[in-house]
Amino acid sequence: MKRKGNINVQTENIFPIIKQFLYSDNEIFLRELVSNAVDATQKMKTLKNIGELNSDISKLRVEVILDKDAKTLTIRDNGIGMTADEVDKYINQIAFSGAEEFVNKYKDADKKNSIIGHFGLGFYSAFMVAKEVEIISKSQQPNSLPVRWVCDGSPNFTMEETKKKTKGTDVVLHISDDSTEFLEESRISQILNKYCKFLPVEIKFGTKTEKIDDPKGKKDDDGNVIKIDKVSDNIVNNTKPAWTKTPSNLKEKHYKEFYRELYPMEFSDPLFHIHLNVDFPFNLTGILYFPKLKNNLEVQKNKINLYSNQVFITDNVENIVPEFLTLLHGVIDSPDIPLNVSRSYLQADGNVKKISSHITKKVADKLAQMFKKDRKDFEEKWDDVKVFIEYGMLTEQKFFDKANDFALYKNTENHYYTFSEFFEKVKEPQKNKDGKTIILYTNDKKEQHSFVKTATDKGYEVLELGGPLISHLISRLESTNTDVQFSRVDADIIDKLIEKEDAELSKLSDKEKEKLQKMIEGQLDKEKFTVQIQNMSVTDSPVVITQSEFMRRMKEQQQLSGGDMQMFGAMPESYNLAVNSNHDIITKILSEKGKKKREDLIKQVLDLALLSQGMLKGEDLTGFISRSVNLIK
Ligand code: ADP
Repeated sequence: MKRKGNINVQTENIFPIIKQFLYSDNEIFLRELVSNAVDATQKMKTLKNIGELNSDISKLRVEVILDKDAKTLTIRDNGIGMTADEVDKYINQIAFSGAEEFVNKYKDADKKNSIIGHFGLGFYSAFMVAKEVEIISKSQQPNSLPVRWVCDGSPNFTMEETKKKTKGTDVVLHISDDSTEFLEESRISQILNKYCKFLPVEIKFGTKTEKIDDPKGKKDDDGNVIKIDKVSDNIVNNTKPAWTKTPSNLKEKHYKEFYRELYPMEFSDPLFHIHLNVDFPFNLTGILYFPKLKNNLEVQKNKINLYSNQVFITDNVENIVPEFLTLLHGVIDSPDIPLNVSRSYLQADGNVKKISSHITKKVADKLAQMFKKDRKDFEEKWDDVKVFIEYGMLTEQKFFDKANDFALYKNTENHYYTFSEFFEKVKEPQKNKDGKTIILYTNDKKEQHSFVKTATDKGYEVLELGGPLISHLISRLESTNTDVQFSRVDADIIDKLIEKEDAELSKLSDKEKEKLQKMIEGQLDKEKFTVQIQNMSVTDSPVVITQSEFMRRMKEQQQLSGGDMQMFGAMPESYNLAVNSNHDIITKILSEKGKKKREDLIKQVLDLALLSQGMLKGEDLTGFISRSVNLIK
């Protein structure tokens, strides 16, 4: 008996709308249909578990069958199936009203982008790619009759009895002419690999009729190689991915193997991992990996894949985990993350908030535990994870509070300290006359070698602080520790950086200093250099060029913000030039009677100072070299 029906809809012709809405993401139809098929097999398991099923459930599986000649794609399962009544209820009424609701809700084109792919459209997403869809199903219920439902993409459908021996459901898509890409084996493989790679039931992918040359080279009467049907038959998924297993049953190598499975193109091994396993107050499993980070943060984001019951949902976890965590790799699987709402709603969702702070806490705990358990190993990994930790410290207060105990700072001798350890060490020796402890640092110990040496010769500690986030972290540390101030070693001469009560005395009188100042200023670009006569040690350099911490940070922040800060638009390069009034050469310059000789000497010491900063270039460098040769003569 054939029954014709009309799907009860208010929205005129729903299918063109579905099609148009989801066009860019239409591949998700396969995710939806395979998920339904998987659900149908899982329901068999449930029935078996509660004793309502006698049949064998050891061979549950889903098949995806591509038939190029018939232009169909079939999703076949041996799950619970549907009776005619169930098709009527679940497909004609419920499923359809779901689709209709979707269309009504998201009619506004501007909302479109935010929901594409995140609204489980379910069964009706098939009409994004098919001009006709058949459901041929036989319920597992005893004595139930197989049913065939057909719909051509209008609100009309037909339902009739049919023949089907085995229990389960076939969904047959007659692919429409503008969606022929879904008749390509490689395209289907790619989609299955993206969404179905870790589904909990075996998924087989087979192509029915693709003609290939006979592998044995058999020829026909005309001598041409015979074409045979190629029937590929692959299992496309790993039904028990590592994150679904009990952590105590897994070894380090299993985690590494799973990393390879997730990122076949990634060359380096992850540094370590965190296995997430929560069942209260929300459900969440997953494995997060710490990759070796490079300095360019942007390119490394969005490697975390979000799953819901082993179905891939998205690799964009923005708004679900805090931003710094998007630098991690791995998998999060939670059925409690709502998928049918727009991204901006996600942030406000209670579960998502809890999940997000749970993950942050887990990550901080793991790092703290590693630091405690094997500090040496942690120190070895530090340089590779520091950008990640610094990023977290700067963007999440809670993480900052925890990370403060294990974030490391390396000195120029490669010793690692936590902030409080380091502070204890330098608190007294590096306290200036105002009671502030000065933390000296270098961002390039080769380039600032002479400054680092002057400081360490005096017994001071110098930290190596570099990387894209460091100037922000420094500001942050200064604001949380008000008795501390950071100064880069080349920000001033060392006795000014850490100014003590018992300052060096000067060999020169004030009058002599004034005279010296004029002489030196006469040889310099006064816009660029501010000359200061300083009482330094006889063993310090005669002239030292520095750039104030303040000026340099301003410039750095300006560069970070892309130079679009108007007020700093024309910020000139400016340096301090400290002249060591206690150095023998300086005394010699002052007492030199010959004008030419004196000017040459001044030029020479200035050039030496520039040279040590890598600032002597071009014509000036050539002049310096020929002057040096003359001096030696
Ligand atoms: P959802 O899966 O979100 O419930 P769908 O539109 O995908 O919505 O499906 C509607 C209903 O149809 C399902 O809940 C299920 O009861 C039934 N169904 C769909 N596909 C199958 C299948 N392959 N086997 C058994 N029942 C199915």
